[in-house]
Amino acid sequence: MRKISKIYIHHSVLPRDQSIVEIRKIHLARGFSDVGYHFIIDGKGEILKARPIERIGAHVRGDNLNSVGICICGNFEEQQPFISQLEGLKKLILSLYEKFGKLQIFGHKDYSKASTLCPGRYLYQLLPEIRSNLTKLCE
Ligand SMILES: [Zn+2]
Repeated sequence: MRKISKIYIHHSVLPRDQSIVEIRKIHLARGFSDVGYHFIIDGKGEILKARPIERIGAHVRGDNLNSVGICICGNFEEQQPFISQLEGLKKLILSLYEKFGKLQIFGHKDYSKASTLCPGRYLYQLLPEIRSNLTKLCE
């Protein structure tokens, strides 16, 4: 099992109802062996498994080795994530904590070498609150 120490949050920049099928198409067209993310949270907040977590992802160029990639469907530069999507995200992160211990949570753009708006300003601005809620839940 590879060592996992952090989570990167992404947005799909696709309409919220487009999910794993469309993301897979785009990633295969980029030459990836499969979806680059490990999990996708669809427009209803359902957690979908994408790339097996034992495998290194393809979601943050330069920092995939010890990270898990979670993509939330929508464009959060332009719209707010749904409450159901945020609930799905928290549930997923808690299940990852159970498996791997507490992990650091980053937005894609937190990686210093990334030049991206991902996961979009409306989701990005919620990350501090998500982190502190999860910390409280784990105490
Ligand atoms: Zn991203």
